Amino acid sequence: MKKIIMGIVGYGGMGSHHARNLISVEPNVELKGAYDIDPARQKAIAEDGFIAYDSYEALLADPDIDLVLVATPNDRHKPLAIQALEAGKNVLSEKPAMMSPQELEDVLAVAKQAGREFFVHQNRRWDPDFRIVTALVEQQQAGEVFRIESRVHGANGIPGDWRHYKQYGGGMILDWGVHLLDQLLYLLDGPIVRVQAETSQVLGNDCDDGFTATLTWASGITAVVEVGTTNFIKLPRWYVKGASGTAQITDWDLSGEVVVATGVDTTAPTPIQAGVGLTKTMAPPTEAAIRREPLPAGVPLEPSFYENVAEVLNGKATRIVQNDEVLRVLRLITVIFKAAETHQTLPFE
Ligand code: NAD
Repeated sequence: MKKIIMGIVGYGGMGSHHARNLISVEPNVELKGAYDIDPARQKAIAEDGFIAYDSYEALLADPDIDLVLVATPNDRHKPLAIQALEAGKNVLSEKPAMMSPQELEDVLAVAKQAGREFFVHQNRRWDPDFRIVTALVEQQQAGEVFRIESRVHGANGIPGDWRHYKQYGGGMILDWGVHLLDQLLYLLDGPIVRVQAETSQVLGNDCDDGFTATLTWASGITAVVEVGTTNFIKLPRWYVKGASGTAQITDWDLSGEVVVATGVDTTAPTPIQAGVGLTKTMAPPTEAAIRREPLPAGVPLEPSFYENVAEVLNGKATRIVQNDEVLRVLRLITVIFKAAETHQTLPFE
């Protein structure tokens, strides 16, 4: 297989992470050099042992470069991707692929015209916690799954500079939201029929600093997707309900469990005092009525993102991250913004 030679535009947090930690471990991709408008980042490129091109044009003029990674603020993805495609390069864009479905359609049209490939780094399809949730859905350890709650909660506000501003593609829907929505749309089959959403703007930025979206699939499955940046007490990363049990993945350390009904003890539980009242309904189940099990092993997703990109560029495989899937997420995001703005439940597909 031919090794894919890469260049990077935008050598900030994520661009340098690709260089140091992602590309460097892959046998079939290699980074030649990068370009960043910030002189301090140009220095970092050279210090990391790569060519720091004088300009983006110089990077694009290098005939060795097969694939350009765009890892700039979100509002720059479109012009930089188009420039690279028109220079005859294949392009890999960081997420969100673009700021809107229209932008992505425009770029895909240019890619088609140029006869070049356009990829999007939806890397969280490979996350171990998400692979475990995939196993819960596919293997039905807790019965048929009918509700998934997927949350990331932080307490540090919105980090960095451009992420605070709408015009640069800031806000949490376009940041973490893209990942969490991509995971669920990749996992669950069939159309989404209903979308409810609310955003939070408690930090004083002109973009959302968090959001909650509730999505209902035609199959009846409901998902709650939530991103928060002012959550000093976190809720679990995943909470999954099946017909005969409940699973929880608490955090990135993959701690959690599955609690399933044994069907053995069906006697009515003893009422407990709850607040100023009594309840049987909310009394804990007896030890015989439930079984605590470890989380299942994650369903592997292979090969790695970059290996798949190299295979596609060598004509040896189909893509794991399809552009129509990426477009569907951006379309859903448009509906989420609208549902939040209008306080309405909206149809999607
Ligand atoms: P960052 O601010 O750390 O880095 C952006 C870099 O782009 C900066 O060094 C800046 O100087 C440079 N830049 C801006 N305009 C440029 C231009 N016209 N030409 C060249 N360089 C330019 O931001 P970041 O956190 O690295 O985010 C970059 C992208 O990566 C965003 O799209 C973000 O959504 C994405 N990202 C993805 C993941 C993931 O897990 N897939 C994680 C973090 C960030």
